[in-house]
Amino acid sequence: MSNFNVAKFGGTSVANFEAMSRCAAIIEANPNTKLVVSSACSGVTNLLVELANGVQDQHRRSEILSQLADIHNAILDQLESPTQAASEVYTILDTVTTLAEAASIQASTKLTDHLVACGELMSTHILTQLMKERGIPATRFDIREVLRTDDAFGKAEPELGTISQLASQSLAPLCQDYVVITQGFIGADAQGNTTTLGRGGSDYSAALIAEAVKASGLEIWTDVPGIYTTDPRIAPKASPIAEISFSEASEMANFGAKILHPSTLIPALRHDIPVFVGSSKEPEKGGTWIRHQVESSPLFRALALRCNQTMVTLRSENMFHAYGFLARVFEILAKHKISVDLITTSEISVSLTLDQTDTSGGAPQLPQAARAELEELCRVEVEHNLCLVALIGNNMSESKGYAKQVFGTLEDFNLRMICYGASPHNLCFLLHESVSKQAIQKLHTELFEK
Ligand code: ADP
Ligand code: ASP
Ligand code: MG
Repeated sequence: MSNFNVAKFGGTSVANFEAMSRCAAIIEANPNTKLVVSSACSGVTNLLVELANGVQDQHRRSEILSQLADIHNAILDQLESPTQAASEVYTILDTVTTLAEAASIQASTKLTDHLVACGELMSTHILTQLMKERGIPATRFDIREVLRTDDAFGKAEPELGTISQLASQSLAPLCQDYVVITQGFIGADAQGNTTTLGRGGSDYSAALIAEAVKASGLEIWTDVPGIYTTDPRIAPKASPIAEISFSEASEMANFGAKILHPSTLIPALRHDIPVFVGSSKEPEKGGTWIRHQVESSPLFRALALRCNQTMVTLRSENMFHAYGFLARVFEILAKHKISVDLITTSEISVSLTLDQTDTSGGAPQLPQAARAELEELCRVEVEHNLCLVALIGNNMSESKGYAKQVFGTLEDFNLRMICYGASPHNLCFLLHESVSKQAIQKLHTELFEK
């Protein structure tokens, strides 16, 4: 195992010149940091997604394009020698203009990935120049040369063997002499088409890259000093967690704690790479260590919230004491490549939620063709505006009495699809979006503040 560290900086950490300078200071402070994975500047990916979804109104399109130019120009203006980085950024902005026009005529997932990748391609040009100006031997690397994925645009799957091979040929040797700055979120398929790993995917990129170069540590620098008992923006009394196990943190990420992309910890776990999460604004505050072995395993660890849930309920009297019904349902879902997240059943109905969508965002949709096939089998209802709340902890399936405390606290809320017992690490349920934050706040007060 090499002795170097991979550091990932999220969108707010590279939002402007001051923020990027704080990242540079963090990199300078640790001579083992040889590889830096950067997101797009804050707000840029959202603007690019809007363009990629097809903006017909030309006025709005130009407005977005000038917003994009302003964000990057504001940083370029503060560099000592911006010429080279500026020319690279302007070339990418020209590409964005052309692709946005194409998307306004006909959007596609392939086009979306090409377009949204431009955010990370621009931020890394600027960050590299800023680092060079501080005397850091920085070099920019296009991660598409290494991060090989399949061609599932918008939610591409990494090809681990190829990534590892390509990384040891071209990326790892560069790290001997340079601090390498590269892009999170993006990759390329075997044909060289740009792909993305899904929204928030830079965390996952950083972990994949850390795994490929056999790094000894992975740091995720964001805008909060670590992982908290719940999103501190929802519950202001949420408290930071000093140390958490891979399994607990994976559950949190999976159940929507935005602080980490759901897949982030898979590569880290595979290679037992300890992960640190901290704030690039306040690095002195420390953060959270995610490790294999941790000292405490409390019954309640954290609460996570994931909105934009789509619930599909399938009803049929033919289900009653019959066999094969669910098999047929899942056959249809599989045929349409629909991935299911939660599931609950009764005698004559089954409810399920659809897995999160890709880079283009929004609630997952049940495709019309799949719905039509399901309707040949049963009645189909689709509901939106739901959020999933997950209580994460340890030994939950073996502990007595706490369900009463949880459900007692939420007696005034209409809870749907309660899933409990399948994992020792969580209990989760759906409720309407309009009350979801309130439910988190009440539960947090009851379970974590007393
Ligand atoms: P980045 O751009 O650095 O990747 P994100 O916005 O993706 O940052 O993730 C950081 C945000 O995650 C925080 O600002 C916070 O609002 C949110 N968050 C959600 N759950 C948690 C949690 N349990 N602990 C800390 N932050 C959380
Ligand atoms: N820039 C991408 C996004 O906003 C990836 C990331 O920041 O992790 O989703
Ligand atoms: Mg993120």
